[in-house]
Order: sequence, then structure tokens, then C-alpha cells
Amino acid sequence: MPALRVLERGWLSANSIVFLDGNRLADDHLADSQPTLPGAVVVDTGYVSDAAQTVSLLRDTLNGRLLSAILNTHLHSDHCGGNAAVQAAWHCPILIPPGEADAVAAWDAGALSYDATGQECPRFAYDALLTPGDTLRLGGTNWDVHAAPGHDPHSIMLFAPEHRLLISADALWENGLGIIFPELLGRPGFGAAKEALDRIESLAPDCVIPGHGPAFVDVPQAIARARARLAGFEANPDRHAMYALKVLVQFLLLDQRTLSLAQIETLLGSADYLVQLNQRYLRQTVPMLARQACEALAKSGVAVFDGTGLRLP
Ligand SMILES: [Zn+2]
Repeated sequence: MPALRVLERGWLSANSIVFLDGNRLADDHLADSQPTLPGAVVVDTGYVSDAAQTVSLLRDTLNGRLLSAILNTHLHSDHCGGNAAVQAAWHCPILIPPGEADAVAAWDAGALSYDATGQECPRFAYDALLTPGDTLRLGGTNWDVHAAPGHDPHSIMLFAPEHRLLISADALWENGLGIIFPELLGRPGFGAAKEALDRIESLAPDCVIPGHGPAFVDVPQAIARARARLAGFEANPDRHAMYALKVLVQFLLLDQRTLSLAQIETLLGSADYLVQLNQRYLRQTVPMLARQACEALAKSGVAVFDGTGLRLP
């Protein structure tokens, strides 16, 4: 197995994957005669509120090693919110998928998803790209970069053919997959998400390290569950919109721990994904929608709703 550690987090921060040794970042450095990087490589850095914890977990995992690079599967705030803090601690380069490179260079928080979700991500700069078709050497084995659009049009995943190991980001979890964000804005995304699942099926990984939750080995079952979920969303986009509403409010709750109805109404009235999913699919007044989100989160047991706001159970 490659020399890697999975720092499993929760839903506020995505998992970080640390490759301790045997790392090379560019195709032309893959020959065994080329020297490896002096230190470790981390894939994804969690949400900004957890950044100090991410740095401390990384420090423990590195056990005195340097960190030579940060890689991001995609640029949602729960995957790259710790980039700035981790880079400040180790002064290492950041590699991102190419799709949002210009938005990162200009730090266009509108084009990136942060304003539109009501989430935060401290500014960072990127140093190089992780382009589908590239091969990297991480943890002493080769990893191919594959496009994984759907959840995010620009997301990539990493596959190690020798070990049949996949880092899937939010394209596939053990029990489902991430929100198909483009659909909330009325842009196609379900088809791309299905293609990403087809791609995973054709890679036939023996083990998947997802963006959230533990690594899992029953990959065909997970693909079947994700396909069923996606088919349900496609048949009933309002259901997908309701799922997105719950996830985005829950994310803010995980960060803040309590939310008043007024805070939720502010989010629903200002964050573009939420404004648009309401206009396009759910068509409620903001106070009605806020109440509906609270009741739905309480019903699924992830929050307590007392009529005036939410708190974590
Ligand atoms: Zn994501």
C-alpha cells in the first residue's frame, strides 16, 4: 500500500489525505532516477473554522517531516478552507484543478462558491495545476488525475492503478454523493455526475477514500446507491433542491453550533445558491423556507428546532 494517512474529519471539514514519503508532482519527474520531494503532500485542508485543528493534526501526522505541497480535489470551502493556514505553517506550493484558476488568481469570491453558499474561505494563491490526464507520484505509487464533474464542474479525483485505490472527493461517498451544484442554478449537472460514476465504475477501484466519511471497499454497492440517489434527484429536482437547502443550512449550523431563524432567513435571502434554488424549485417565502429547513433538519435528527432557531443535538 502507498504510504498514506487519512485524516478523517466530519461534514464541516472534508477528509485530508497525507502522503508521507515518495512524492513527485510532475509527469517528467516520474522516472525513478529523479529525486522525490523532501517532504509530505496533503490532499485537501478542511474548512477555515477547523484550520488550527488541521494544522495540528498535520503536524502530528508529519512527525517532524516537511510538508512539500498542498493539493485540492476541488475548491469548495470545506476542502480548501485550510489552504492559507497550512501554507503559512509550511510555506509549500498549492496545486488546484484548472477550471477555477483564473477565479483564484483574481480571488473572485463570487465566481468561486463562497459568497453563493454563505461560507468562508481565506484567500490563497495557487502555484501549479492538477490537470486531468496528469500523473503524479504520491506515497511511492503513481496516481492519475481524472475529471470528476457533477457535484462541482471542476473537481478532480485521483486513482492509483497499481493499488486500485481512488480518492473520490465528493463524486462518490459510501452513502450517496454531494449536491449537484450547477443544477441549483439551472445548469446541467446530473448527466456529468452520472458520467463521473461511470468513470469510477470503469476504473473499478478496490477501495475508495471519499471526501467525507471513512474509506470503503464495497464500491459497486456505493455506486448503485449514488446512482439511485441521482436518479431520484433527476426525476424530482425539487427533492434535490430540498436536499441542498438542508445541507447548506446544516453546514452553517455545524460551524456556528446555534442558528436563529433570523440568521437562517438572512442566509436564505442572500446566498445565491439558496436564493436561486428557492426561486427555481421550492418557491416559498423566505420565512416559510427557513421554517421548512429547520423542520426537515430536526426530522432527520441532525438538529434540534425549538421554534425560534436550531442547535446541534
Ligand atoms: Zn464539494
